[in-house]
Amino acid sequence: MELSKWLAAAAAANADWAKTFGPFEPHASLSVDDGRFAEAFAALTERLKDNYPFFHPRYAGQMLKPPHPAAVVGYLTAMLINPNNHALDGGPATAAMEREAVQQLATMFGYDTHLGHLTTSGTIANLEALFVARELHPESGIAYSTEAHYTHGRMCRVLGVEGHAVPADDLGRIDLDALEDLLRKGRIGTVVLTAGTTGLGAVEPVHEALALRERYGVRIHVDAAYGGFFTLLAGDGLPAEPWRAIAQADSIVVDPHKHGLQPYGCGAVLFRDPAVGRFYLHDSPYTYFTSDELHLGEISLECSRAGAAAAALWFTFQLLPPTRDGLGEVLAAGRRAALRWAELIEESDRLRLYQPPELDIVSYFAGDTLSGIDAASDRILHEGMTDRDDPVFLSTLRVDGGRFTRRHPQVTADADGARILRSVLMKPESETYVEHLHRRVEQLARR
Ligand SMILES: *Cc1c(COP(=O)(O)O)cnc(C)c1O
Repeated sequence: MELSKWLAAAAAANADWAKTFGPFEPHASLSVDDGRFAEAFAALTERLKDNYPFFHPRYAGQMLKPPHPAAVVGYLTAMLINPNNHALDGGPATAAMEREAVQQLATMFGYDTHLGHLTTSGTIANLEALFVARELHPESGIAYSTEAHYTHGRMCRVLGVEGHAVPADDLGRIDLDALEDLLRKGRIGTVVLTAGTTGLGAVEPVHEALALRERYGVRIHVDAAYGGFFTLLAGDGLPAEPWRAIAQADSIVVDPHKHGLQPYGCGAVLFRDPAVGRFYLHDSPYTYFTSDELHLGEISLECSRAGAAAAALWFTFQLLPPTRDGLGEVLAAGRRAALRWAELIEESDRLRLYQPPELDIVSYFAGDTLSGIDAASDRILHEGMTDRDDPVFLSTLRVDGGRFTRRHPQVTADADGARILRSVLMKPESETYVEHLHRRVEQLARR
């Protein structure tokens, strides 16, 4: 499919629809001269060149890639109308699309019942889950591992609840013994488990933590903002247990703007018990006129939200549904790329694997001392991205010295930590590019 053709079709469909309401006079205050528009557009595209090539497999750094053309066309087509999914009055069509897309997400995780909606981001989605958790356990704290996303600690402060960071094991997953010690003290109401940590892609043992829920009466929230769509590979290259167990969690967060091919502005929160909707109850003098049906704004902390984001996700799911054969194929390719690169690194005499990839994040380093490794990571990162002929874009991750030497006892701990190299292989194209990527990084490490 050709993107420009469908972008033109989007504009044409909008014009056709607009025509059905009859002509009116555009206001002079909004008119812009074509020549000035062209000039400003040239300046815009020039400015935007100051970017990294997120679309290209030579970009193997952070969790960044452009949206799928379906998401672009879905977003743009709806954005020309600019519906607001706060209320049914703001966008009946996109509110319905949001419900359908969220239902598909709930089905993907195995939820039989759910209440959920899209959010602007994973951070806001997690805030909503922790807000409901606090309403249910107002006197208790929230536990998460030291590897959890940094916003959990921040949102605990926003909500005025105590946040407890629990140590992680040698693979960067929450230490269940340490968690249980904490739960025994009786001050925790909710445990956050991360299905795919942002740093290393570690999947925390949701299935084992469920037993603690019964024993200590806590809520279980699963932050699958990054990893959620990998549930499509459960039992097919990935251990099934933690993913299947997510169906029992009290709430789940997933970011379609990470692995769901969407542009930024698309997170999602799902609750297993629809009755938690009562915590959102409010009365708005501005909205909710047209029906007694539930408005999405009545179950969301945010007010205005882009209906276009819902249209983009809905349209993408029509073409690449969240199933093993749909979106699952995209994730499987990235994961194969990560496994292949890990193999190549294992065979390398220059690079070493920091830990085996669980999902599609590869972590690696060069050197024998923490200070040397840190310096090498920094050098490879910068030399890689400033190379004129064959650049490569990586990212670094700072790891604590103790955690490093537990994994790699032969490394000399001459500093309290080190930056290692980290590559998120979230583009399926990485699968055929990974040999080149490896050779390139090896060359840089050899310098
Ligand atoms: C990315 C991420 C978040 C934050 O989501 P945003 O969409 O960036 O706000 C939270 N948790 C995890 C595990 C993440 O990977």
